[in-house]
Amino acid sequence: MTSKRVLVLSGDGIGPEVTAQGVKVLRALAGEAGLALELDEGLLGGVAIDATGDPLPPETLEKALAADAVLFGANGGPKWDTLAVTPGHGFRRLRAELKLYANLRPVVVYDELLDASAVRPELARGTDFLVIRELIGGIYYGEPRGIREEAGGRYAVNTMLYREEEIERIVRLAFETARARRRRVTSVDKANVLEVSRFWREIAGTVAAAYPDVTLEHLYVDNAALQLIRAPGRFDVIVTGNLFGDILSDEAAALMGSLGMMPSASLGERHALYEPVHGSAPDIEGQDVANPLASILSVGLMLHHTFGRPELDARLREAVRRVLTRHRTADIRGVEQEVVGCERMGDLVVEALARAA
Ligand code: NAD
Ligand code: MN
Repeated sequence: MTSKRVLVLSGDGIGPEVTAQGVKVLRALAGEAGLALELDEGLLGGVAIDATGDPLPPETLEKALAADAVLFGANGGPKWDTLAVTPGHGFRRLRAELKLYANLRPVVVYDELLDASAVRPELARGTDFLVIRELIGGIYYGEPRGIREEAGGRYAVNTMLYREEEIERIVRLAFETARARRRRVTSVDKANVLEVSRFWREIAGTVAAAYPDVTLEHLYVDNAALQLIRAPGRFDVIVTGNLFGDILSDEAAALMGSLGMMPSASLGERHALYEPVHGSAPDIEGQDVANPLASILSVGLMLHHTFGRPELDARLREAVRRVLTRHRTADIRGVEQEVVGCERMGDLVVEALARAA
């Protein structure tokens, strides 16, 4: 078996604290399941600015391009966020260099955490869907863009642009993914107003023809925003463009109760990056109170997508659920559970995995 190379970029703020727990779980599962794993580390973000003046040093980019997967923590903080070149610039450049066109966010409301959801338990119960967002196209990247002058005054412009092949590859990924789930794809657009969306809908329909075993529905984005809160249980796979995906996936996080619970995978043809969706949380940095489960669950996504071992991801999620019945971090504090810190939560997950083995 060829070994997989994983580059750990733990970044700033609580990044190192939560990533250390993710790595701990990765090592434990790899050891037990006999995965061949090579771990390396690099600098990205504020720590890289401090060490080299560049948030994405050439050495880090080189290592990332050579790795099978990147495990990322978080970047940014007050010390760097007002610089001309910020940690975020470095991170967005990394995403683009790795051509990570698909961002996957699983939205799962565990019964054990129903009390933490922003939505009433009878609506949130059983929610289990995946948002697949196109990550390197659409209005976030389209040209022309800018703030300009004309005779009558100033104006600003952005361009929403999708090429046929960009839509096709993301929709295809949604259908492939749905085949391993409940076989239902919801494509979200604004086809009643936007030509780009009419085009998106047409391409989605063409892709769908190759997947007669999967149902395709189209929803307008405004209605999708409503349905996410009113009836989250109806969704299986949601596929959408960069702008709508950005907004809807944050909305979906409210279902899960805490940012500290949401993992993500960003995938390209050749590269993959896994990260918790939260930021560097400078307000709780260094206190050992951050919730590491988003990082730990991101490792689960890595086991699924990079190592091709979805059953290990499933085992990990089971272990997390068992831990949550008796222990919580402060952000998902319950009435009956003991509140534990970041490192202890990582240890509890490792112990739960060992007990289940
Ligand atoms: P944030 O996600 O860092 O924090 C928002 C709130 O959620 C804070 O109150 C924080 O304490 C809490 N929180 C976040 N993660 C948590 C966890 N794992 N456990 C418990 N509580 C958690 O967002 P912000 O405060 O807007 O931004 C802080 C910094 O992070 C900024 O520099 C921002 O640019 C950066 N940021 C980075 C990323 C990324 O690395 N991908 C994403 C968002 C923000
Ligand atoms: Mn966003």
